[in-house]
This record gives sequence, structure tokens and C-alpha cells, in this order.
Amino acid sequence: MTKLLIRLLFTAGLFLLLSNCSDSTESFDIRIINAMLIDGLGSPTRPADIYLNGGLIARITVPGALNAEALNTIDAAGRIVAPGFIDVHSHGNPLETPEFENFLAQGVTTITLGQDGDSPETEDLGGWVNQITEIGIGVNVALFVGHGTLRNLAGIGQKPDASAEELRRLLEILNNSLDYAFGLSTGLEYNPGLHAPESELVAMARVVGNRDRILMSHMRNEDDDQLENSIDELLSQGQYARVHISHLKSVYGKGAARAEEILEVIAAARESGVEITADVYPYNASYAGIALLFPVWSKTNEEFEIAKRDRREELEQYLINRITRRNGPKATLLGTDPYTGKTLADLETELGLPYEKILIDVIGPQGAAGAYFIMDDELQSRLLQDPNITVSSDGSPSGFHPRGHGTFAKIIEEYVVNRESLELEEIIRKMTSFAASLLGLDNRGSIEEGKVADLIIFDPTSVRAKATYPDPIQLSQGFDIVMVNGVIAFQSGAATSARIGAVLQPSN
Ligand SMILES: [Zn+2]
Repeated sequence: MTKLLIRLLFTAGLFLLLSNCSDSTESFDIRIINAMLIDGLGSPTRPADIYLNGGLIARITVPGALNAEALNTIDAAGRIVAPGFIDVHSHGNPLETPEFENFLAQGVTTITLGQDGDSPETEDLGGWVNQITEIGIGVNVALFVGHGTLRNLAGIGQKPDASAEELRRLLEILNNSLDYAFGLSTGLEYNPGLHAPESELVAMARVVGNRDRILMSHMRNEDDDQLENSIDELLSQGQYARVHISHLKSVYGKGAARAEEILEVIAAARESGVEITADVYPYNASYAGIALLFPVWSKTNEEFEIAKRDRREELEQYLINRITRRNGPKATLLGTDPYTGKTLADLETELGLPYEKILIDVIGPQGAAGAYFIMDDELQSRLLQDPNITVSSDGSPSGFHPRGHGTFAKIIEEYVVNRESLELEEIIRKMTSFAASLLGLDNRGSIEEGKVADLIIFDPTSVRAKATYPDPIQLSQGFDIVMVNGVIAFQSGAATSARIGAVLQPSN
């Protein structure tokens, strides 16, 4: 053990004590004593001892009430014990980064993959699950099946209208995939999902509803003046299934009053009987492939070549309008090589070209991804306060955006501690039991006897989101212990070798 590690252990004030296990009446694998318990259900913080056995929460008592033995004792004095956070919109490839240390360091114990319409491109999801289980992963994964992937598997690709037989195939693969997937994701701003007509989306929603799963959508258009239309489109699918808006945002909308309007649309829909929810990430820049800036008729390389030849002037003007509305060339920060860390404005200086020409002649719609500073803090912060809106990172272990490493730490550090705009028990409820209920995970997301021990131990005032836009690959700090399935998965600032996460199985 390094000196640094020892120092960290001591400054963290957390000790794993080995004790002799005698033949007393009750014995446990782990006991967590002197904790301040936040149960994830919204109850007030209360002092408690928590006993774990076989990866489950076995007993919860008032401090010192139980005279029991345990193989390991964790003294959580001065710390909160809460359920691990559930990230309802995440990215990453478990075959490449199975540790998912970026998520563990933020207190996340379950992530969701297969988002934005894009999931493992196979009909054999059982085989995929086995492959991941074999290598072992750091966090639990709840898988979604992606609409774009289904289109590819069914042979539809980018065709606007699928044949009856192709649509039947798509629905069949969807239904089979839901044996492993917690729901369907759509990415209607991306290829090939953007080509789908309403009839196709509704047909899929019926399958999702029949299986009691959730339909999560990266909506067709997040621009402020298109937001209501996009929500309407999702609500038509919401007649048949629970629906959820992924990373709800208003691109270039401003102010808390505008947030109230958006929340009213959602509240009215809920009142009319549609089960609609959403998630938000706590940053003011989005991140996506640069094709997002290009018109629908020039997103793929093939379309782009034709557009460049036949509609050059129109394309330039489109890009100028779009970038101007999106806060200008300084507000696009590229995140992929060879442009990593440079804005479009930086490239203008470097190359001596206007940005629309750089986008067309240098980068192209498939040539980069970037962060787009297009959101308003006041508006997005108001959305975060809604009881039916949870938190997602929309991040990954390698993405060049701080959300992948910082989201959940930033919620605690910035919104709970610094701004005091979110109450700790309530935001934890939303990031745990509420998120679990959306996924249909009935054995996780709260600290109750019988639930799986996905737990975090932390002092809220010590939590720090270290990731920044120029330096986004920085682990968050302050989550002293993160337990996944009853085993310590992260401690003293690093992931343990446990890789105890599971690819979760829907319960029905
Ligand atoms: Zn998305």
C-alpha cells in the first residue's frame, strides 16, 4: 500500500475493521455503523446502522440497537449513506472500458446503455450479455434497444418508408430484444432514426407498452421554437407506452419562465394520463457529432457530396444561420482529433477561413464531434427542480465533455451545497428510487431491507466535480466508498478490482 493511499484512508476517516466472528446469534457480511441514512425514498436523513448479507441489505436499525457480528465493519461517522445513483442516459462500450471508473467516482452504481437509438448491433443480445458478463464490469448496466439499430437489423436503414414485411421484422426484433432490454431508445435527430414516420414510432410504442417497458427519446428537434412539436410527437407514442424525454433541453431558450412553460406542457400531458418523464444533465453545453449542425439533406457523406455539388450556397447559408443561432463559432468546442480542444473560432484564426467553409471543406458532417454551448443556466436549473425530472450524465468514460466524469458530483457540489437550489433528500430520491421506477428496477434504488446493496458513503461538503471543458477526463472526488451488489467497487479515489457490476435483467 502506498503512503498516499494510507494517508487517503486516514483522512477519509473510514476504516475497514476486521473482527472475529464468534458463534453469536446474528452475523453479517458487512455492517455500516454511525451512518446518516438517506433512504432514496425522500424521507428525512436519519441516523442508522445498516447490515448487509449476500449482497443484500439485511437489517436497518437505529445506531447500536443490534449486537451482531460482521466480517467487516465500516465506520461511516460524519458521512451520508445513500443508494448508489442510477444514470438513466449514459454512453460507453463495456468491451473497451469495463471498469467505468468515471461513473463509480460520481457515486453511480447503475448506468443505462443503448441510448439515442443506438445499441449493440446484434439480434443476439443474450450473447452480448454473456460476453460482458465474462469480462466483468464495474457498474451495473441496464440495456436499451435502439430504434436506429433495429432499422439497420431489419434492413430498413435510411429509407423513409419501410415495407410491411420490414416493419414486421423490426417489431419482431424489438419484441425479442425486450427480453434483455429495459426499453426502447430513439434518436430522432440522428440517422437513421430521423427518417421514421409517425406510424413506425407508434407501432414500436405499442410493443413497448405491451411489455411494460419505457420508451426513451432523444427527440427530433431540441431548438426552443420546436420543443413543443417534438414533445407532441413523443406524446402520440405516449398513448401506448410510458415515454421519457432524454436530456431535456431548450437550445437557445432562456430564463426560468420558459422552463415553467415547458414543465407545464409535461404536467398537462401527465394530467391527461400520459406517463411522461424526463432527465436533465447539469451543464450548459451539449455534445454530439458535428452532423447535428448540418441540414437533414446533407448529414451522411453521400448526401453531403451531392449537397456540396448542387446546393453549396444554400448549405453555407444554412450553416451560418445555424451557428449564429447557436451562439456563434466560439460556442462550438470540438472534442475529437485533430481538433480536440479548439473552437470553430480558433480554427477560423488558424486556417484563415470562415467557419462555414471550414465545416464544409475541412471537417464535413462525419469529421468531428463537439460540445455546443447552447443552453441557459437559469432555464436548465429550473427544469432540474421538477419532481418528475431525474438526472442523467449523457456521458461516457472517454467523451470530451465534463458530464461523463462530473455530472452527479456537480449536482451535489454545485446545486445542493453551493447554490442550495436542490434539497439533498429530494434530489437523491430522483437519482435513485425514482430513476429505478422508470426502468422498472424494483430491487434497487432505495435503502430498505431486502434490496440490493448498491450504496454510497460520502460527505456532501467534500464532493468535487473536477472535470472541466478543457480537461474533462478527471475523476470526481468525495465519494469515499461506492458499493455495487454489496461489494466495495470504489474506495480511496480509485476503482477496486472487484468488477462486480452486472448486466441487469428486466424483471418480467
Ligand atoms: Zn442524445
